[in-house]
Amino acid sequence: MAGQEQTQLTASVPDVAQNYVGGEWTVPADGEEHSLENPATGDSIATVHYASANDVETVVDTAADAFDDWRRTPPVERIQYLFDLKAELEDRQEDIAQALTREHGKTLSEARGEVRRGIENVEVASGIPNMFREQSGNVEDVASGVDERSVREPLGVFTAIVPFNFPAMIPLWFLPYAVATGNTFVLKPSERVPLSSQIIFDAVDAAGFPDGVVNLVNGDAEAVNALMEHPEVAGVSFVGSSPVAKYVYETAAQEGKRVQAQGGAKNYAVVTESASLSEAVPNIIGSVYGNAGQRCLANDVVVGVGDVYDDLREQLIDGAESLTVGYGIDEETDVGPLITGDSRERVLDLIDDALEEGAELVLDGRDYEHPEYDGHFLGPTFLEGVTTDMEITQTEIFGPVLCLADASDLGEAIEMVNSTRYGNASSIYTERGGEARTYRYEVDAGNIGVNVGVCAPMGFFHFGGRKDSFFGDLHAQGEDAVNFYTEKTILIERWNQ
Ligand code: NAD
Repeated sequence: MAGQEQTQLTASVPDVAQNYVGGEWTVPADGEEHSLENPATGDSIATVHYASANDVETVVDTAADAFDDWRRTPPVERIQYLFDLKAELEDRQEDIAQALTREHGKTLSEARGEVRRGIENVEVASGIPNMFREQSGNVEDVASGVDERSVREPLGVFTAIVPFNFPAMIPLWFLPYAVATGNTFVLKPSERVPLSSQIIFDAVDAAGFPDGVVNLVNGDAEAVNALMEHPEVAGVSFVGSSPVAKYVYETAAQEGKRVQAQGGAKNYAVVTESASLSEAVPNIIGSVYGNAGQRCLANDVVVGVGDVYDDLREQLIDGAESLTVGYGIDEETDVGPLITGDSRERVLDLIDDALEEGAELVLDGRDYEHPEYDGHFLGPTFLEGVTTDMEITQTEIFGPVLCLADASDLGEAIEMVNSTRYGNASSIYTERGGEARTYRYEVDAGNIGVNVGVCAPMGFFHFGGRKDSFFGDLHAQGEDAVNFYTEKTILIERWNQ
C-alpha cells in the first residue's frame, strides 16, 4: 500500500518533522521521537520529535532576540516578506495540499481549498500599513493647543497553538498578522499533523525573513505549557477543543499574556418550508460529511421545520448514500478517514449512546471497511428522531454523522439551536428575508450562514465564535487580529515652539 501511495502522491513530503528556529532547521536536543501514521492507510509516514520545555525556551529566546530589529523594520518593508511568502506558498501549494492529504486523509480538493484559504490571510495581512492607518486615532485640540493620538505598537513574541483538522490554514490565521504588525512568532502545530507546516516553513525560509522572526516548534502539551509560562511570550493564539481552549485561556491569562482561544463547536442547520431543497441539500451534505465531519463549522444537526421534513429527509438520505468513503488521494473519495482510531471509537460511542437514548439509525456506517486501505474509516451515518436532551445533539461529533430533528416552527427550531453550550456557527436555509433576519437576530452564534453551510469568514473579517466556542474578546483574522497583536499608546502633545 505504501508503494501505491508513493506512485499517486507526486509531492515530496518530509519524513521527519523538524523545528525551525532562528532560520535553521533543527531536531530538538532532548525531544522524544514519535512515529506518525497515515490515517487512511495505517502506514508509518514520518517521525516527529516533541520539544521539551528546554527546547521551547531556546525557541522563544530566539524569537525574543529578533524582536527589537523586526519592530524597527518599517511596516512597508515587513510586508515585502509577506509578498514573497505568498509567492513561495503559491509555488508550493500542491505540495502542501498533498502533505495535508497524506497526514490527515482529507481529499485533495479539500486540501487545495484549505491552502487557498490560508494564503488569503497572507494577502490580507500584506495590507497592514493601510490597516494601521485606518485604525489610528487622531484628535486635534482636545484642549487648546493640545493634540491627542493613539499609536499602535507590537508587543513582542506571540505563539499560535493549533489543531489537527486544518493543519495548513489555521497557522496562517495568525502568522501573517503577528509578523506584519511587528511581532515575532512561534508556531506549535498539532503533533498529529506536523508535516504540512514543514512545507509552509520551507516557504517562510525561502521568503528570507530575518532569522528568528518566524519559528516553528513541534510538541504536545509539555511544549504548550512551556510556551505559556515563558516570560517573553506576550500573547497566545489557540485553536482546538473547548476544554483545552479554556485551560489555555485561564493559564496564559494567569501568566499575564493576551489570549484568544477558539474552542469546539456544535452547529445546527435549520431548513424552513420556503427553502430551495435542490440548493440546500448538497450544501448540507457538504457541511456534515466534508472533511469527514472534522470541521468546527460542520452543521451536524439538521432541523426540518414543519412540512419540509419528509422531502428534506428523503433527499438528505439520497445525498448521504451517494458519498464514497476512502483515502483523499483517490479522486472519487468524498469522505476520508478520522484522524485516529481513538477518534473513531469516540464517534462510535456517541452513536451508540444516541441509539440507547432513542435516536433511530437510518444509515449505518459503523462497520464500514475499505476494500484496500486499513484506515480509521466510518461510513456516512444518519440518525433521526434526535432531541436536544440527547448527548449527540449537545456534543461535537467530529465524524461523518448527520442527526435529523424536526420542529413545528422557526421559534422552536431556534430554541434547539441555542440549546447547546457552544456558539461557533449556525445556518438557515430559507428564501424569506424575514426568516433569515429573525435567525441572525436570535441565534447565539458567531458565524451565521444564510443558505451557506460552512460559513468560514474571509480573511478580512474576523472569525466569530461565542459561548464555549471562544474564550477571549479579540478574534482571529481581519481587524481583530490587528488589535490583538498590537498595543495602543496614547500620545498627548502640546508644543510651545
Ligand atoms: P486539541 O484541543 O486536542 O488540540 C489542539 C492543540 O492543543 C494541539 O496543538 C495540542 O498539542 C494542544 N493540546 C492538546 N491537549 C493539550 C493539553 N492538555 N494541554 C495543552 N495543550 C494541549 O484539538 P484537536 O483535536 O487537535 O482539534 C479539534 C478541535 O478543534 C475541535 O473541537 C474543533 O471544533 C476545534 N476547532 C475549532 C476551530 C474554531 O475556529 N473554533 C477551528 C478548528 C478546530
